[in-house]
Amino acid sequence: MAELKAPRGTIDRFPPYSERCEHVIKCFVDACRAHDYRIVHTPTFEDTRLFTRGVGESTDIVMKEMYSFKDKKGRDLSLRPEMTAGVIRALIEAGRRYTGQIEKLAYYGPMFRYDRPQKGRYREFFQVGIEAIGDTSPYLDVDVILLGWDYLLNLGIKPDDMVVIVNSIGDAEDRKTYLKILREHLKKVEDELCDDCKSRLDTNTLRVFDCKNPKCKELVSDAPRPLKHISSANREHFDIVIKMLESFGINYRIDEDIVRGLDYYTHTVFEVFPTGEEEASQGALLGGGRYDGLFATLSNGELDFPAVGFASGVERVLEAVDWDSQDKKAISELDFYVVILGDNAKSQAYKIVRKLQQWGFSADIDYRAGKLKSQFKRSEARNAKSIMIIGDDEINAGIVKFKPSKDKEIELSLSCFDMENPPDEIMSPP
Ligand code: AMP
Repeated sequence: MAELKAPRGTIDRFPPYSERCEHVIKCFVDACRAHDYRIVHTPTFEDTRLFTRGVGESTDIVMKEMYSFKDKKGRDLSLRPEMTAGVIRALIEAGRRYTGQIEKLAYYGPMFRYDRPQKGRYREFFQVGIEAIGDTSPYLDVDVILLGWDYLLNLGIKPDDMVVIVNSIGDAEDRKTYLKILREHLKKVEDELCDDCKSRLDTNTLRVFDCKNPKCKELVSDAPRPLKHISSANREHFDIVIKMLESFGINYRIDEDIVRGLDYYTHTVFEVFPTGEEEASQGALLGGGRYDGLFATLSNGELDFPAVGFASGVERVLEAVDWDSQDKKAISELDFYVVILGDNAKSQAYKIVRKLQQWGFSADIDYRAGKLKSQFKRSEARNAKSIMIIGDDEINAGIVKFKPSKDKEIELSLSCFDMENPPDEIMSPP
């Protein structure tokens, strides 16, 4: 049999990488708690039509990057390439109505895209994200951007080291007028556009702004931009967002070129980049915006609730964090490593480990026992903060040796492990 390997574009995550991923998620969840967003879980696979309708038939994600398959009953399913469409589908299915109240939801989990694998781009990757549903207020757009900002701050990324790139693409009405103008402009240079842009000219015209082809970049450089063609009410919405970002001292820049790749966006669209890496091909640390039309699209026009959110790639964010200053927080530390000397000590040692765990410490034991030197080596490899030595001689003398550090040793009475609470010597070693 051929050698078995992880599929191309996927990664196996071992500590400390896996712990760093968990730490990114924890910093995200902390920010969510602060802004009152609550966790939602939806399936990793969905009816393929959810994405063709919700994300857009002519987007790269749907056209080129979906993992689609038929199940045993011939149903067309796809692994989720993103989660917004799934969350909105779930809310519609649960019969949610947003008349008078809003709902703030957060998620994290694996997403799947048949992307070209490279650093920071995988075929299975983790995303964290939020959706705020039920209100058109520009202040809610600001809340979403600030939550994203806070999550990155929680990770120790400095405010000067990141920038929010923000734009408005207006509402559906604005878009109709604007797309006409843009298409007229592009028709003049149609022959010179790359094949992708040519084929999207009538379906997903806005994507020309995302095209990396140098010729296309040049051709669209003087094309009209959406921001100049939005209604005055929608401009006001955008001005409030900008004013608030300004007043909170957020490092931001208006970039009329960002339109975001997915069909469902309206009004505010934004991306957060590490400063100086705005052109990075791996994509942003975080990207999102308003999508007031998605409920209508997914409910056949029956429901019409506004929403705004973002998604952030965990692996991408991981690359931007200075882990040398973070590792202590990110890597799970072991409080106690229990070393066993002698056969009779074994059962007593397991009882002590259990007690340490019940007291709320992390504790592990050397299952191999054997020579003291090898056990100490293994405790070092695990980065244990302190060691307990439990040997036949100690048990006979009714004690346990506790080493809170390399050059310190304290004798504890065996009986203290019968107590409900840990002794002072353990809580604050002398
Ligand atoms: P998008 O859904 O394309 O707006 O992307 C949102 C976030 O997911 C960004 O932070 C991206 O860096 C991240 N992302 C998108 N595609 C991938 C991928 N193939 N691998 C890793 N991260 C990704």
